[in-house]
Amino acid sequence: MKKTAAADVVIIGGGIAGLWLLNRLRQSGYSAILLESQALGGGQTHKAQGIIHGGMKYALQGVLTQDAKAISDMPAYWLRCLEGKGDINLTRVPILSKAHYLWSPSKFTSKLTGFLAGATLASKVEALPKEAYPAVFQSPQFKGEVFSLNELVIDVPVLVRELVKDNQDAIYQIEPVCQDELFIDKQGRLANITVYSSGKPIEIAAQYFVFTAGAGNEMILNKLRPSHVTAQRRPLHMVLVKTPFDYPLYAHCLGLGSRPRITITTHKAQDGSSIWYLGGLLAEEGVKRDSQSQIKAAQKELTNLFPWLDFKEAEWATFFIDRAEPAQKDGLKPESTYFTAIQNMLVGWPTKLALAPKLADDILTHLKNQDLTPKWFDNRELRALPMPPLARPIWDELLCDCIV
Ligand SMILES: Cc1cc2nc3c(=O)[nH]c(=O)nc-3n(C[C@H](O)[C@H](O)[C@H](O)COP(=O)(O)OP(=O)(O)OC[C@H]3O[C@@H](n4cnc5c(N)ncnc54)[C@H](O)[C@@H]3O)c2cc1C
Repeated sequence: MKKTAAADVVIIGGGIAGLWLLNRLRQSGYSAILLESQALGGGQTHKAQGIIHGGMKYALQGVLTQDAKAISDMPAYWLRCLEGKGDINLTRVPILSKAHYLWSPSKFTSKLTGFLAGATLASKVEALPKEAYPAVFQSPQFKGEVFSLNELVIDVPVLVRELVKDNQDAIYQIEPVCQDELFIDKQGRLANITVYSSGKPIEIAAQYFVFTAGAGNEMILNKLRPSHVTAQRRPLHMVLVKTPFDYPLYAHCLGLGSRPRITITTHKAQDGSSIWYLGGLLAEEGVKRDSQSQIKAAQKELTNLFPWLDFKEAEWATFFIDRAEPAQKDGLKPESTYFTAIQNMLVGWPTKLALAPKLADDILTHLKNQDLTPKWFDNRELRALPMPPLARPIWDELLCDCIV
């Protein structure tokens, strides 16, 4: 006899988008299960720098973009969750920094100063007196200026752990879902997905299927070929530095253009060392370089920006990662979250970790508008499937010899 299982909603992909949605659906009384093929958080989510953007980065070109408006509420939303007063209790998730900083190695351009004074976002940006600068900028050799942004930085690996904690009975590890395992009926609805336990097939039926599989969403789009949506990838070449000093820094460095020249966040590795994690233009332009050249470029950049620091004893690592998103004109970054509904299949990207709660809200609202009512649940056959592991932080994986 065929083995079967059923839930109101099946989610495919255990990054921030799928995990946040799983929590919100179960809180709302729906039965939901999540299927993940690798490690939880191990896609883009664990590679995020953990900045809960409030829109400043996107307003730097001197105009208030749609993007900046869409995410300006997110720091306050996350803070409520981190204080135990929001939609999901995140009181155990450490705030790595209550502010993200913006610095220029020389004096600010008049265009930007004018913008900061005039824009709606001005209340969220504070020019700091020198004594309030992060410790690394207290050097007499620092000749620039530092602003504080109303943006948090959070510990992403702990966030993932907390979102998984109460849902272990609803998360299953499977082989990557592929096109052949999606059974589309004559009405064009996804009737079930086949997964395998010890080589034996189990058909999972659901009222709705939500694909939050990041780059893996391309598979469902290829299968369904909807005319209105395709996916894009924006590659990055990120750099990790195990520093011989302990200067926690969470900051964008302003360059000549509208995008940060470098974005630095700091993370503690399992061996207690302090890791500077480098993104921004360095990572965008670094996709053309191999790892050795990217390390050289990072060394040159940090030596220019921090001539008073000694990086000789630092350890370096790099890795490539794609941002997976809905395709935009000219490959630009998307303005906000996005999901599309194709019959009972939803395909979504938060486009930023900070926006995952908004994506979950939008999907929940859509499902309620479709009159989704809780009625299906049978996970008996799925219990034999393992639970996917939590991903290891990338700095531990690449720069820490600790035994797991
Ligand atoms: C280097 C970097 C830094 C970033 N920094 C920030 C930041 O500071 N702040 C911010 O707000 N955003 C940041 N982002 C963006 C943010 O990380 C992403 O928008 C977010 O993590 C996307 O989450 P997701 O759940 O959609 O995708 P993912 O985290 O990629 O999760 C998708 C999951 O689906 C699984 N999967 C894929 N295919 C299948 C399949 N066929 N079957 C089963 N499972 C499958 C994968 O294994 C993966 O676990 C950053 C992104 C990158 C790359």
